Amino acid sequence: MYAIAIHGGAGLSTPEDLGAERERTARIDLEKSLLAAERVLQEGGSAEEAVIAAVMVMEDSPMFNAGKGAVFASDGVQRMDASIMTGHDEDAGALCGVSIVKNPIRLASAIMHNTPHVMLYGDDAHEHAKEAGLEIVESSWFHTQYRLNQLKKAKKANKILLDHEHVDKGKSKGTVGAVALDIHGNIAAATSTGGLVNKRPGRVGDSALIGAGTYAKNSTCAVSATGHGELFIRANIAGRMSALMELGGKSLHDAAHQIVWEELEEDVGGLIAIDQQGNITMPFNTGGMFRGSLKKDEKPKVWVWKEENK
Ligand code: ASP
Repeated sequence: MYAIAIHGGAGLSTPEDLGAERERTARIDLEKSLLAAERVLQEGGSAEEAVIAAVMVMEDSPMFNAGKGAVFASDGVQRMDASIMTGHDEDAGALCGVSIVKNPIRLASAIMHNTPHVMLYGDDAHEHAKEAGLEIVESSWFHTQYRLNQLKKAKKANKILLDHEHVDKGKSKGTVGAVALDIHGNIAAATSTGGLVNKRPGRVGDSALIGAGTYAKNSTCAVSATGHGELFIRANIAGRMSALMELGGKSLHDAAHQIVWEELEEDVGGLIAIDQQGNITMPFNTGGMFRGSLKKDEKPKVWVWKEENK
């Protein structure tokens, strides 16, 4: 048995706001992400390798708020946060404020494996990426006109926005993440983001933080969250999801639904989670969430809007 679930950010108010072309491209890239993870899992690769493969596809796609296409901070710099956790040993790696590493999720994994620490930030994280032989790019690699326009609009309106959010319309969020179960029975979670449009330089979101945006423990679940980071940090969402299962005796589905539907404020985000049995849950309380899943012997499935049922 193997299984994978991914998200490309919650939020999104309506199909009109997103636009047919962006929606079509996002769906294609989500499917590519699932298939990249499946190739790893089919060959007996680990859940960690699978979530990295899935997230890298979305980091390389300009469609999502991670890697290429990440949003800009208020000073016009794209600073990224990412984290990864493996459920069999509860080890973790994370980074924040990274601006020249092509695939931040690979750096999170390198930090986990190569250092005795969980998180590195800024230039010291860049140094480790170079030592680990990861691909370094000019900051212009991450730029897209779409995100530059978003920053201009946000600055004009004097607002800090979530990635798919419109200055004058409802809220929406970005970020990418993946959770996977491998054939060895291990689970893992990974999350990667550019954070918030027009965020203050130095702001760190939940996606960098183990227990807030990312968590994995074999006996409970692997979780990746997306949404308004400050709320997810305060409520320790990903760790809470695991605690509701471990200490509260909840199922994967019930724990996730309690968090998203009873505990989080309305219209702030969602999460994806998987357990060792390969159960998957993907609740969100926004208009849409880019998401998809794939299980052994099944075709990849991708959804965007809340009306699209599993
Ligand atoms: N959670 C991310 C952050 O606050 C944003 C997102 O999910 O779009 O940095």
